[in-house]
Amino acid sequence: MADTVLDRFLRYVVIDTQSDPQSSTQPSTEKQRNLGRLLVEELLAIGLSDAHLDEHGYVYATVPGNTDKAVPVICWCSHMDTAPDFTGTGVKPQVVRNYQGGDIQLPGDASRVIRVAEHHELANQIGNDIVTSDGTTLLGADDKAGLAEIITAADMLMRDPSIRHGTIKLLLTPDEEIGRGVDKVDFDKLGAQYAYTVDGETAGDIEDETFSADGVEINIAGVAMHPGFAKGRMENAIKIAGGIIARLPTDMTPETTERRQGFIHPVSVTGSMAEARLTFIIRDFDTAELAAKEALLEGIVKDVIAAYPGSSYTFAVREQYRNMKEVLDGNPAIVENAVEAIRRAGMTPRRGSIRGGTDGSRLSFMGLPCPNIFAGGHAFHSPLEWVSRQDMEKAVATLVELAKVWEERA
Ligand SMILES: [Zn+2]
Repeated sequence: MADTVLDRFLRYVVIDTQSDPQSSTQPSTEKQRNLGRLLVEELLAIGLSDAHLDEHGYVYATVPGNTDKAVPVICWCSHMDTAPDFTGTGVKPQVVRNYQGGDIQLPGDASRVIRVAEHHELANQIGNDIVTSDGTTLLGADDKAGLAEIITAADMLMRDPSIRHGTIKLLLTPDEEIGRGVDKVDFDKLGAQYAYTVDGETAGDIEDETFSADGVEINIAGVAMHPGFAKGRMENAIKIAGGIIARLPTDMTPETTERRQGFIHPVSVTGSMAEARLTFIIRDFDTAELAAKEALLEGIVKDVIAAYPGSSYTFAVREQYRNMKEVLDGNPAIVENAVEAIRRAGMTPRRGSIRGGTDGSRLSFMGLPCPNIFAGGHAFHSPLEWVSRQDMEKAVATLVELAKVWEERA
């Protein structure tokens, strides 16, 4: 009997793989290798004979193709680490079998309740088996659901030679949650043309858009002097910084925007009378709009500083990441084939955008176009995280269909 996706998932979540943004090592925490070693054993056991854990904590493996057609090599990618936001030590998964609706009380902490009023997706889970933590840790469905789904789909392809498919590469990464998940990927070794992260939420979702993102650093040089002799001469950089913040548009902030709206967001301010530094993040789905927002911000700086003739400023923009859609639009088959696979697996595909960046957006601009497919988890990075067995099975079915669609259309 083959392991089910639930069997695998329950094995992976009990292994603590929290990443650490303070660490400078790669992987950021040694314990991520504990899961990596187990995954390699399992991949070898299902017949992926090249499976290995490299020195940076990445797992690579190949599902060999079984067709004469020249099918593009695709990659399935998910991450092994869990978020630093909430502890992942001592996860005790609970399975609510045949869920019949209502709030779910977690057994390890009376204050932790997954409420229908806050978790609307629960309404679509009647009759399903829902996995949660006991409320004292996160669950780690983000993204151990993706790992379990990818490995189960690979197992199905290996067991059933009647399913025709091209070569499929597996890439299981450390440190995604701290933004370093693709830093050390060996693209030559991977040898894939296109990739899919399996790291989204609701069954049926595919995300092919992320924000485009810049950082801005503004340095203000004021005029400092003894406050007892300052009249008409002092120009306090702290007050200049405050003037800039006071004039930021209130309809362009993270707390007042949603969906496809972008924002200008101050993330840190430090200063003294002599000098002040403000750092911002600028976000928009339309890359050209970043420059417009930056011009607006610099206009505010100029206006404010005009009242301080002895002061000056510098304004530096640094590119952070770009909307992956710019890359994916160059080869529509990548998303179309996934949409078709989701449909064949029995769902209505929903294309969405992510108000953030992903490893997929970075991979896309590193030459490996990479949309994000659902993994089924909800309430990521929290003790209320949950995923259903049935949605994980839908993700497995989607991956198998995806392999078939690429082969058919080659
Ligand atoms: Zn994730």
